Amino acid sequence: MIGAAEERLGEIRSRIDKAARLAQRKPGEVTLIAVSKTHVPEAIRPLLVAGQRVFGENRVQEAEAKWPALKAEFPDAVLHLIGQLQSNKAEEAVDLFDAIHGVDRPSLVTALSKAMEKSGRRPDCFLQVNIGDEPQKGGCAVAELPALIEAARTADLPVVGLMCIPPADVEPAPYFALLAELARRNALAGLSMGMSGDFETAVTIGATHVRVGTALFGARA
Ligand SMILES: *Cc1c(COP(=O)(O)O)cnc(C)c1O
Repeated sequence: MIGAAEERLGEIRSRIDKAARLAQRKPGEVTLIAVSKTHVPEAIRPLLVAGQRVFGENRVQEAEAKWPALKAEFPDAVLHLIGQLQSNKAEEAVDLFDAIHGVDRPSLVTALSKAMEKSGRRPDCFLQVNIGDEPQKGGCAVAELPALIEAARTADLPVVGLMCIPPADVEPAPYFALLAELARRNALAGLSMGMSGDFETAVTIGATHVRVGTALFGARA
C-alpha cells in the first residue's frame, strides 16, 4: 500500500518534471524543498522514508527543536532556512542549516560571514529580493540588489542564487521572470521561487529550487 505522504510526494515530483519538460529543462535541475514548518516530526518522517531529503523551515528555534533527532535518523537530510533571519541568530542558523534563503541586508551578510568563519561551516546563501517592492515584505529592494551582491561577495559569502516571494493574489509569472533576469545579470545560477500554488509556473521560468509546503503536508494549523 502506498502511504499518503508517498503519494503526495510522487504527485508533486511528477508535476515538477512535467513543467520542466515543457520548458525543455531537465527535471533533475529542480530541487524540491519540502517546507515542514509547523509540522511535527511524525508528519515529516513519512516523507523521509519515502525518499525526500531536502526540507525547509522558517524559524531557527523550531528547527533546532525538531531536526537534530531527525538528522540522527536520516544523516543525509538537507535543511534550508527559508524565513527571515535575525542577525543575533546567525550562528545558530549556520550551525544547523545547509542553505539560508533570507539574506536581505548588509548587516546580516556581516553576521553570517562572522558565524561562518567561527564555525567553519559554509551554508549556501540565497539573496532574498522584495520582487514586488512591497513595504511590509522582507527582502532587499530591487534597486539595492547590486549593492547587496557586492557586500556578499566582499564578505566571501557562498552566494548561490536569488530568492523571492511574489505579491499575493496576482499573476506571479512577471515577478519570477524579473528574478530570473536579475540572476542572469549578476551571473547567479540559483533561483529559489515557487510555492504550492505556483511552483509549476516557477519551474517553466527557471526555478532551481521550489518551496512546497501545503501541497505536501496539507494545510498548516
Ligand atoms: C511557508 C513558506 C513556503 C511554503 O508555502 P506553501 O504555500 O505552503 O507551499 C514557501 N516559502 C516560504 C518563504 C514560506 O515561508
